[in-house]
Amino acid sequence: MSVLLAVALSAFAMTLIVGVRYLIASAGFALATRIRHPGLYAGLDRQMRKEILWSLASAAIYGIPAGIIAWGWQNRGWTRIYSDAADWPLWYLPLSVFLYLFAHDSWFYWTHRWMHRPRPFRIAHAVHHASRPPTAWAAMSFHPIEALTGAVVIPSLVLLIPIHVGALALVLTIMTVMGVTNHMGWEIFPRFLHGGRLGAWLITASHHQRHHADYRCNYGLYFRFWDRLCGTDRGLGSFDLAPRGRGGAAVRDAGGRGGAGNA
Ligand SMILES: [Zn+2]
Ligand SMILES: [Zn+2]
Repeated sequence: MSVLLAVALSAFAMTLIVGVRYLIASAGFALATRIRHPGLYAGLDRQMRKEILWSLASAAIYGIPAGIIAWGWQNRGWTRIYSDAADWPLWYLPLSVFLYLFAHDSWFYWTHRWMHRPRPFRIAHAVHHASRPPTAWAAMSFHPIEALTGAVVIPSLVLLIPIHVGALALVLTIMTVMGVTNHMGWEIFPRFLHGGRLGAWLITASHHQRHHADYRCNYGLYFRFWDRLCGTDRGLGSFDLAPRGRGGAAVRDAGGRGGAGNA
């Protein structure tokens, strides 16, 4: 088989994997929403259809570079992914997960802030903010330009930072679960993860909901580090969990933690 065909097949397979992973994760959490908060997505059918279409387009944009790199990993030893846990000390496993999440978070924070400038917002990021309020289907609802900024992250990191294949699977799982739950419209995590001392540094739905409500704040992905450092953290939003009427707002400003300041 020619190399080109093999690479194309790998890119196609990865697109399928990313697309199916999205559908399963979002469907699962949408179902959980239906059980826990029936009616929360009432009247949002049109929006959710669009979220699914944009997300499936994003799956291809994510899948192609990931598939190319996966081929290079298997056939050419391109990456720094290792599969023998003894290759690096055990303490490096959690550190590598943190390094990946922190690098992704940093990239996301700055590209996200850039995308809130008027031109990139109008051209690209408005697609993501058309979800008002977001739902479990909005996890990958991005304009292709924005999807591209996200798609290069993990394929670049595996070329640079050593990671065990299992730790990489954990990073991808965290990425998927947080992407979906941050947009779900309610908080699934226990209070100490978003309300307590740990919550002052971690991003869950309560934090990202406020980004979708107020726009020019709370730009982070996993951690509040950059938001707090740059004065863009406006604290947590809150959820109106009463079943929605058509066009009703599902987000209320709860005041949250202090820290005003625009980007
Ligand atoms: Zn969002
Ligand atoms: Zn935004």
